Amino acid sequence: MRKLLFQSLFRPPFTERAPMPDDAALNELAGALRRAARRRLGRSLSIREIDAGSCNACELEIHALNNAYYDVERFGLRFVASPRHADVLMVTGPVTKNMREALERTYQATPDPKWVVAVGDCAKDGGCFAGSYAVVGGVGAVVSVDLHIPGCPPPPMAMLKGLLALLEGADSAAVTA
Ligand code: SF4
Repeated sequence: MRKLLFQSLFRPPFTERAPMPDDAALNELAGALRRAARRRLGRSLSIREIDAGSCNACELEIHALNNAYYDVERFGLRFVASPRHADVLMVTGPVTKNMREALERTYQATPDPKWVVAVGDCAKDGGCFAGSYAVVGGVGAVVSVDLHIPGCPPPPMAMLKGLLALLEGADSAAVTA
Protein backbone atom coordinates (compact mmCIF):
# COMPACT_ATOMS: atom_id res chain seq x y z
CA MET A 1 0.00 0.00 0.00
CA ARG A 2 2.79 2.38 0.93
CA LYS A 3 4.57 1.52 -2.32
CA LEU A 4 1.41 2.23 -4.33
CA LEU A 5 0.97 5.60 -2.64
CA PHE A 6 4.59 6.48 -3.30
CA GLN A 7 4.29 5.50 -6.98
CA SER A 8 1.16 7.58 -7.40
CA LEU A 9 3.09 10.68 -6.35
CA PHE A 10 5.33 10.42 -9.42
CA ARG A 11 3.03 8.75 -11.95
CA PRO A 12 1.72 11.10 -14.65
CA PRO A 13 -2.06 11.62 -14.63
CA PHE A 14 -4.16 9.16 -16.63
CA THR A 15 -6.51 11.84 -17.87
CA GLU A 16 -6.06 13.37 -21.30
CA ARG A 17 -4.33 16.70 -21.54
CA ALA A 18 -6.73 19.55 -22.07
CA PRO A 19 -6.60 20.96 -25.64
CA MET A 20 -5.13 24.40 -26.11
CA PRO A 21 -7.86 27.03 -26.35
CA ASP A 22 -8.41 28.36 -29.86
CA ASP A 23 -7.85 32.11 -29.45
CA ALA A 24 -8.42 32.86 -33.14
CA ALA A 25 -11.80 31.12 -33.22
CA LEU A 26 -12.89 32.81 -30.00
CA ASN A 27 -11.92 36.28 -31.24
CA GLU A 28 -13.55 35.73 -34.62
CA LEU A 29 -16.78 34.53 -33.04
CA ALA A 30 -16.82 37.31 -30.48
CA GLY A 31 -16.19 39.95 -33.14
CA ALA A 32 -18.97 38.62 -35.36
CA LEU A 33 -21.32 38.47 -32.40
CA ARG A 34 -20.56 42.07 -31.46
CA ARG A 35 -21.24 43.26 -35.03
CA ALA A 36 -24.49 41.29 -35.22
CA ALA A 37 -25.65 42.61 -31.84
CA ARG A 38 -24.93 46.18 -32.87
CA ARG A 39 -26.71 45.81 -36.22
CA ARG A 40 -29.79 44.15 -34.73
CA LEU A 41 -30.03 45.90 -31.39
CA GLY A 42 -27.88 49.00 -31.82
CA ARG A 43 -26.31 48.39 -28.42
CA SER A 44 -25.10 45.63 -26.20
CA LEU A 45 -27.04 42.43 -25.72
CA SER A 46 -28.41 42.00 -22.21
CA ILE A 47 -28.95 38.48 -20.94
CA ARG A 48 -30.90 37.28 -17.94
CA GLU A 49 -30.02 33.75 -16.87
CA ILE A 50 -32.72 31.54 -15.36
CA ASP A 51 -32.06 28.22 -13.68
CA ALA A 52 -35.38 26.44 -14.07
CA GLY A 53 -34.15 23.28 -12.34
CA SER A 54 -30.75 22.35 -13.72
CA CYS A 55 -28.00 20.31 -12.04
CA ASN A 56 -25.89 23.52 -12.13
CA ALA A 57 -23.29 22.23 -14.58
CA CYS A 58 -24.89 24.37 -17.31
CA GLU A 59 -24.53 27.35 -14.93
CA LEU A 60 -20.82 26.63 -14.47
CA GLU A 61 -20.33 26.88 -18.24
CA ILE A 62 -22.42 30.05 -18.42
CA HIS A 63 -20.36 31.55 -15.58
CA ALA A 64 -17.25 30.79 -17.62
CA LEU A 65 -18.46 33.28 -20.24
CA ASN A 66 -17.72 35.97 -17.64
CA ASN A 67 -14.31 34.71 -16.54
CA ALA A 68 -11.03 36.38 -17.44
CA TYR A 69 -10.51 34.16 -20.49
CA TYR A 70 -13.86 34.56 -22.27
CA ASP A 71 -14.74 37.93 -20.70
CA VAL A 72 -17.80 38.40 -22.91
CA GLU A 73 -18.49 41.91 -21.66
CA ARG A 74 -15.68 43.01 -23.99
CA PHE A 75 -17.98 42.14 -26.87
CA GLY A 76 -21.16 43.83 -25.75
CA LEU A 77 -22.68 40.79 -24.05
CA ARG A 78 -23.61 41.29 -20.44
CA PHE A 79 -25.63 39.49 -17.84
CA VAL A 80 -28.22 41.56 -16.02
CA ALA A 81 -29.94 41.01 -12.70
CA SER A 82 -33.46 41.85 -13.80
CA PRO A 83 -35.57 40.53 -16.69
CA ARG A 84 -36.83 44.09 -17.16
CA HIS A 85 -33.38 45.00 -18.47
CA ALA A 86 -32.95 41.90 -20.63
CA ASP A 87 -33.14 41.18 -24.37
CA VAL A 88 -32.46 37.48 -24.03
CA LEU A 89 -33.51 34.91 -21.43
CA MET A 90 -31.03 32.03 -21.18
CA VAL A 91 -32.84 29.17 -19.49
CA THR A 92 -31.19 26.01 -18.18
CA GLY A 93 -32.45 22.71 -16.90
CA PRO A 94 -35.69 20.89 -17.18
CA VAL A 95 -38.48 23.13 -15.92
CA THR A 96 -39.46 21.82 -12.52
CA LYS A 97 -42.99 22.20 -11.26
CA ASN A 98 -41.68 24.52 -8.54
CA MET A 99 -40.01 26.81 -11.09
CA ARG A 100 -42.77 26.88 -13.70
CA GLU A 101 -44.51 29.98 -12.36
CA ALA A 102 -41.20 31.79 -11.79
CA LEU A 103 -40.23 31.16 -15.42
CA GLU A 104 -43.60 32.36 -16.71
CA ARG A 105 -43.45 35.51 -14.59
CA THR A 106 -39.86 36.23 -15.64
CA TYR A 107 -40.88 35.84 -19.30
CA GLN A 108 -43.81 38.22 -18.85
CA ALA A 109 -41.55 40.75 -17.10
CA THR A 110 -39.12 40.85 -20.04
CA PRO A 111 -39.91 43.63 -22.51
CA ASP A 112 -40.46 42.92 -26.23
CA PRO A 113 -38.66 42.18 -28.44
CA LYS A 114 -37.20 39.28 -26.51
CA TRP A 115 -35.65 35.95 -27.28
CA VAL A 116 -35.52 32.76 -25.27
CA VAL A 117 -32.46 30.53 -25.47
CA ALA A 118 -32.79 27.04 -24.00
CA VAL A 119 -29.33 25.94 -22.85
CA GLY A 120 -28.49 22.24 -22.52
CA ASP A 121 -30.15 18.95 -23.31
CA CYS A 122 -32.46 19.17 -20.31
CA ALA A 123 -33.81 22.50 -21.50
CA LYS A 124 -34.84 20.89 -24.79
CA ASP A 125 -37.01 18.06 -23.56
CA GLY A 126 -36.19 17.40 -19.92
CA GLY A 127 -33.08 15.37 -20.79
CA CYS A 128 -32.18 12.79 -18.17
CA PHE A 129 -34.89 14.22 -15.88
CA ALA A 130 -37.70 13.72 -18.40
CA GLY A 131 -40.61 11.83 -16.92
CA SER A 132 -39.80 12.77 -13.34
CA TYR A 133 -42.80 13.56 -11.16
CA ALA A 134 -41.16 16.92 -10.35
CA VAL A 135 -40.58 18.06 -13.93
CA VAL A 136 -42.92 19.81 -16.36
CA GLY A 137 -40.63 19.16 -19.35
CA GLY A 138 -38.34 21.25 -21.52
CA VAL A 139 -38.39 25.04 -21.58
CA GLY A 140 -40.60 24.93 -24.68
CA ALA A 141 -43.34 23.35 -22.59
CA VAL A 142 -43.71 26.62 -20.68
CA VAL A 143 -42.52 29.51 -22.87
CA SER A 144 -41.79 29.95 -26.57
CA VAL A 145 -38.16 29.02 -27.37
CA ASP A 146 -36.21 30.73 -30.16
CA LEU A 147 -32.99 28.78 -29.95
CA HIS A 148 -31.74 25.60 -28.39
CA ILE A 149 -28.05 25.16 -27.61
CA PRO A 150 -27.43 21.41 -27.25
CA GLY A 151 -24.91 19.77 -24.92
CA CYS A 152 -24.68 18.37 -21.43
CA PRO A 153 -23.47 20.88 -20.58
CA PRO A 154 -22.71 22.98 -23.68
CA PRO A 155 -19.25 24.62 -23.52
CA PRO A 156 -18.93 28.43 -23.57
CA MET A 157 -17.84 28.40 -27.23
CA ALA A 158 -21.07 26.60 -28.19
CA MET A 159 -23.03 29.31 -26.37
CA LEU A 160 -21.22 32.05 -28.28
CA LYS A 161 -22.00 30.24 -31.54
CA GLY A 162 -25.62 29.83 -30.49
CA LEU A 163 -26.04 33.51 -29.66
CA LEU A 164 -24.49 34.40 -33.01
CA ALA A 165 -26.90 32.06 -34.79
CA LEU A 166 -29.77 33.72 -32.96
CA LEU A 167 -28.67 37.20 -33.95
CA GLU A 168 -28.02 36.26 -37.56
CA GLY A 169 -31.34 34.44 -37.82
CA ALA A 170 -29.54 31.30 -38.95
CA ASP A 171 -31.23 28.02 -38.33
CA SER A 172 -28.18 25.85 -38.66
CA ALA A 173 -27.65 25.53 -34.91
CA ALA A 174 -30.82 23.79 -33.86
CA VAL A 175 -32.93 26.92 -33.96
CA THR A 176 -36.47 26.02 -33.07
CA ALA A 177 -39.57 27.99 -33.70
S1 SF4 B 1 -28.08 19.52 -19.70
FE1 SF4 B 1 -26.66 18.28 -18.46
S2 SF4 B 1 -25.41 19.81 -17.40
FE2 SF4 B 1 -27.24 20.90 -18.13
S3 SF4 B 1 -28.72 20.78 -16.44
FE3 SF4 B 1 -29.10 19.00 -17.75
S4 SF4 B 1 -27.90 17.33 -16.82
FE4 SF4 B 1 -27.10 19.29 -16.00
